Amino acid sequence: MTIERLRTDILILGSGGAGLFAALHAQRAGQDLDITLATKGLLGKCGCTRMVQGGYNVALNPGDSVERHFMDTIEGGKWLPNQELAWTLVSKAVERVRELENEIGCFFDRNPDGTLHGKAFAGQTFDRTVHKGDLTGIEIINRLMEQVWARPGVRKLEEHRALALIPSRDGTAIAGVLFVDIRKGTFRFVEARAVLLATGGGPTMYRYHTPSGDKSMDGIAMALRAGLPLRDMEMVQFHPTGLLAGPETRMTGTVLEEGLRGAGGHLLNGDMHRFMGDYDPKLERATRDVVSRGIYAEMKAGRTSPNGGVYIKMSHLGPKDVAKKFKGMVDRCRDCGFDLAGGLVEVVPTAHYFMGGLVCNADTSTAMPGLFVAGEDASGMHGANRLGGNGVANSTVFGGIAGDMMPAWLVRNPGHRTVNEEVLQAEVDRAQHPFRKKPGDLNTLREKLLDLMWEDVGVTRDEAGLDRALTGLENIEAELLSTGIPDGDKAFNLTWHDWLNLRSQCETSRVIALAAKQRRNSRGAHFRTDYPEPGDLATSCFTMVRQTADGLKITDEPVRFTHVKPGETLLGVKDAAE
Ligand SMILES: Cc1cc2nc3c(=O)[nH]c(=O)nc-3n(C[C@H](O)[C@H](O)[C@H](O)COP(=O)(O)OP(=O)(O)OC[C@H]3O[C@@H](n4cnc5c(N)ncnc54)[C@H](O)[C@@H]3O)c2cc1C
Repeated sequence: MTIERLRTDILILGSGGAGLFAALHAQRAGQDLDITLATKGLLGKCGCTRMVQGGYNVALNPGDSVERHFMDTIEGGKWLPNQELAWTLVSKAVERVRELENEIGCFFDRNPDGTLHGKAFAGQTFDRTVHKGDLTGIEIINRLMEQVWARPGVRKLEEHRALALIPSRDGTAIAGVLFVDIRKGTFRFVEARAVLLATGGGPTMYRYHTPSGDKSMDGIAMALRAGLPLRDMEMVQFHPTGLLAGPETRMTGTVLEEGLRGAGGHLLNGDMHRFMGDYDPKLERATRDVVSRGIYAEMKAGRTSPNGGVYIKMSHLGPKDVAKKFKGMVDRCRDCGFDLAGGLVEVVPTAHYFMGGLVCNADTSTAMPGLFVAGEDASGMHGANRLGGNGVANSTVFGGIAGDMMPAWLVRNPGHRTVNEEVLQAEVDRAQHPFRKKPGDLNTLREKLLDLMWEDVGVTRDEAGLDRALTGLENIEAELLSTGIPDGDKAFNLTWHDWLNLRSQCETSRVIALAAKQRRNSRGAHFRTDYPEPGDLATSCFTMVRQTADGLKITDEPVRFTHVKPGETLLGVKDAAE
């Protein structure tokens, strides 16, 4: 099959907060550079940044501080974050939020004195989550999208699915990316001097999940295949309150935002008992992992709502106030037959965010020269747990940094590199694999994967379950490879894309299960019922996995406490005493 070719200087994969910020910064930094933004969906309409509800963490209030935000991030991450990355996140968030308002055109909710309003989010010592009602992501992405569409200098390739990172012939750097143009069903190779991976992770391989349907861990799967190191792959964050509206609707699993618990929402089990006190003194305002485990334990004990979850109740806060403060959530629940303001809504823990991903530096560079990473594809900023509100801060902060760094890198690394044509051809061949097999039932396979990950690699884990999962995943992958799709028109062939999605999900699920087996303690989002203790914080390690010719290799790497050690705090005496 012929491959269309295109040359660009900077290629950005993904149009979420990370990709769009990178495009704007790259253009500002290098006006005469050829910049291409390629995305699996429609620009401004895909990805999870648009779905951000609660808001954006930033230390703006004089009573708050960057140090305090940093300590919340490190302690929330159970001392596993890369501290350099976490510090970059919290310190640059201040500048990025001002940029969002003053340059990009966002307008966030304000206090009566005109300062930005910060709402309460669980697991934080200050109410620092800046927001636009409870639909913050729409404000951010709409304004970013307008700015990017207004720049004809940024080439937009919509509905282009990245398939593989293609190295240079000498194997020392990246040479470009292979795509399938979803609309035409044709292959396109974009040769690039620098590439940003910003495809947004997205643990969509769980029975209940929140991320947008266009995400299937493609970026992380591509990086794995390219031999790049991945860290913290066991760290899948479950949001405690996914909507539970029955098995027949895609609304099941979608998130009801953290601010509901932050504002004082109660969780009740099927016996109408407010159960979180049985698990944690912070009740519903405990961190996401703790609340998810509390709900999961109630589910396992059978004390459930009709659809098998628990209830969230807001009515004691005043239905009128709830309807005003959480309009988006109230509307969403009403659409599914629930009255959030005045009644009870069924909820279930739902896979929400992926803390694992590519190993990277604070300037977004990776182990592969010319390849940069930002947003949910990157790892190390959050360690074992992402604080609500640190996700969109992460994607916009590091997307902007990548946009600044890539033009600078190009100055030091001129010219395109010679492409490894053999790898390129092999990847074209690999993508067409299902057309050579007898058509089969992809849906049953997907259902198997969703159940396996939920049951054995989910909210709680143990050795037997993880062994079962690793065997099960091998079988599912083998079945997938022998399951074909009808050899017809490739244009807008969504069955083909379902197949490709499943392949990325299977490959990354295997790494998640392996890393979960490797970590024999419990930290943040990763909880082993057979190893419930967190282990010694001072000798904390993170897992690192890479694909080698001999299979997956996993190691434990020591966390470097570059800013603060367990038992210490960065806060001044006044803050620490508070
Ligand atoms: C429902 C929901 C609510 C959330 N609420 C909050 C919140 O209140 N606060 C907070 O901080 N965080 C929140 N998050 C998390 C936050 O949305 C993400 O962490 C962040 O937006 C990720 O940004 P990103 O740019 O990395 O990825 P995304 O915004 O997800 O963008 C990924 C992009 O990559 C594209 N892509 C995917 N695969 C490919 C491929 N193969 N080829 C080309 N393009 C590809 C997608 O189409 C998309 O354009 C929420 C997430 C969800 C799902």
